[in-house]
Amino acid sequence: MSNFVLPPEYEELRASLRRFAEEGIAPHAAEADERSEYPWKSFEAYRDSGFIRLPYPEEYGGDGGDLVAYCILVEEVARVCGASSLFVMIPRLAIEAILMFGSDELKQRIIPKLATGEWQGSYCLSESHAGSDVAWMRTRAVRDGADYVLTGSKAWITNAGISDFYTVFAKTDPEAGARGISAFVVEADRPGFSVAKLESKMGMRGSPTGEIRFDEVRIPAENLIGEEHRGFQYAMAALDGSRPTVGAQAVGLAQGALDAATRYVTERQQFGQPVAEFQGVQFLLADMATRVEAARLLVYSASSRLDAGMPGTSKASAMAKLFASDTAMQVTTDAVQLFGGVGYTKEFPVERMMRDAKVTQIYEGTNQIQRMVIGRRLLDEVAPA
Ligand SMILES: Cc1cc2nc3c(=O)[nH]c(=O)nc-3n(C[C@H](O)[C@H](O)[C@H](O)COP(=O)(O)OP(=O)(O)OC[C@H]3O[C@@H](n4cnc5c(N)ncnc54)[C@H](O)[C@@H]3O)c2cc1C
Repeated sequence: MSNFVLPPEYEELRASLRRFAEEGIAPHAAEADERSEYPWKSFEAYRDSGFIRLPYPEEYGGDGGDLVAYCILVEEVARVCGASSLFVMIPRLAIEAILMFGSDELKQRIIPKLATGEWQGSYCLSESHAGSDVAWMRTRAVRDGADYVLTGSKAWITNAGISDFYTVFAKTDPEAGARGISAFVVEADRPGFSVAKLESKMGMRGSPTGEIRFDEVRIPAENLIGEEHRGFQYAMAALDGSRPTVGAQAVGLAQGALDAATRYVTERQQFGQPVAEFQGVQFLLADMATRVEAARLLVYSASSRLDAGMPGTSKASAMAKLFASDTAMQVTTDAVQLFGGVGYTKEFPVERMMRDAKVTQIYEGTNQIQRMVIGRRLLDEVAPA
């Protein structure tokens, strides 16, 4: 049996997601970008549609969609609004480590609130001096009786100031490098928690990115995720599970730009005919479409492996994120080219898509880091036993 064609239920899901995204999210995308404002109307439409439940397990109030279905959700939202796809992805990333390693009490406390949209969450790994090399982080968590006390700051946190809880990685043994990191849940209403600054960004401008500060933030020991000192492993496992969704986001951005460009070239006339009639334009469209399809297949392949619990998923996840994000950058840039001068203006969405696409090559590990992951796994596979 071939697994290379999605079963019909996934295509049905895509069709209803497309309708929902075009009606509930697309109308607010340009304004959120222009004003750098959180697209609350889009979030409310997402919450009210019920699609918000898709990525969460049924026992915690979700619909229990698998990773392939979740990637289709991310892709269809990103096709019309990159910033909105982040409010789909980030709360799910925030609970990835909790789902895999956290206590049932933590899961019960948090996930049902995400599935109804009452709460949102963020994932706090990066620091200003520790991005690719997160083991260099300085945020400290010190045990004090029945509590931990957190001090330090996290940089580049998506959904900063919007989220109700933050999954925070902090050093519990500063001398032990990557083996001295633990993971915690920090609620936004704890004394000493603050959003220190918000970034002014090139793209994804409707999604806030900021620095979070912890000034002796006291949390109960029950907020420790899993075991002490295992945080680095949890952070990497969370990223392995999440990178295909960044790939899906990139595929969505690329597809949105390709659709807009394909439409435009059939309408725009030069030399007495639609520019779509020129072979040079058709070849460019053909390359764009082929790259998008190849990226989508890598995303579904990595997601299916994760859904099946197959070993060795880091390489597949990194490949999906790497290829899809490079594709998004290339295809959105080509789409701007096909629009000519107006592509460089805000009259059409392709310039926004091009700006939004750039960050998919940077976050959840830059594409240099993805190549390192792929290279190391390849070498591990040929290493003598
Ligand atoms: C919009 C946005 C949202 C983000 N959201 C979050 C979030 O929610 N949570 C979170 O924790 N983080 C988040 N990040 C942070 C993001 O994951 C980091 O920016 C990223 O991992 C890179 O780290 P850095 O910026 O410190 O770059 P650096 O690590 O300083 O890298 C600088 C350059 O050096 C290259 N480089 C570094 N090491 C190597 C190497 N060994 N080999 C080859 N090249 C190398 C990099 O690829 C890059 O080109 C976000 C970032 C952005 C821009």
